[in-house]
Amino acid sequence: MIAAMRIGTSLLLALFVHAGVAQQPALDEAAAREAVYRIVRHSGLVPNFVVRASSETRTAIAYVKDKQRVIAYNPQFMATVLDSARSDWSAISILAHEVAHHLLGHTIDPASLRPGDELACDRYSGFVLFGMGAALAEALSAQSAIGDPHGTRRHPPKHARLEAIRHGWDEARRLREGLPPESPRDPDGLQYVLSFVDDANTYYADSLGRVVWFDQSACAIPFGELRDGGKAGFTLQWMDEAFVIDGRMAIWRKSAHGMPLQVGRMERYAR
Ligand SMILES: [Zn+2]
Repeated sequence: MIAAMRIGTSLLLALFVHAGVAQQPALDEAAAREAVYRIVRHSGLVPNFVVRASSETRTAIAYVKDKQRVIAYNPQFMATVLDSARSDWSAISILAHEVAHHLLGHTIDPASLRPGDELACDRYSGFVLFGMGAALAEALSAQSAIGDPHGTRRHPPKHARLEAIRHGWDEARRLREGLPPESPRDPDGLQYVLSFVDDANTYYADSLGRVVWFDQSACAIPFGELRDGGKAGFTLQWMDEAFVIDGRMAIWRKSAHGMPLQVGRMERYAR
């Protein structure tokens, strides 16, 4: 298995530890810690993370416990990623994404509905992986292999996540080459601004009904859909979440008990 992998540097070689007779590559804690150390170093920061292999974690997660910043990952999940992405950068990009959740402050208040946060972390992973020497395809390898085309409640669909990683990678390349940031691509006339409770991100809907998120360099990444139902009001769909927008532009979601819950507001976009 290990021979089939592309090994970027000798340090990355340390990522692969054979567990007993199992042929799947695994990621042990020491190697994961080393990888996180390198990721943080490329951000110019001092690493103060606890890195933990945990079979209770489904994939990978960043959280704060006892005032410690923890990154936990499931070793089996990571083995699957390494195996299907066939690139050692895949594990690093997943860890970089989790590091970003800490650095961007998302773990202070782990609210539920912030797809823009996921895209911001994907963007960071692309940015850092460029600095670490990954090619674009390598930065995209984990998401290409395991991304969900439809997304889930917490995670935007694959196309948006790949785009966010590409933005980050390309922004780092432009910095390195002394180029200005990618010029903003205005997505066919913005119509509405959408904001959600507990979500610092701002979303927009364009004239095609696409709901987009802007990253720091103002490149739009579409990931949802706004439909104008005339008298029935608007409906908003992203991932497996559906919302209704009433005549006063309040955004509602049905709660688990069937009661509608106001989760945000929509406004006309004004330049
Ligand atoms: Zn995430």
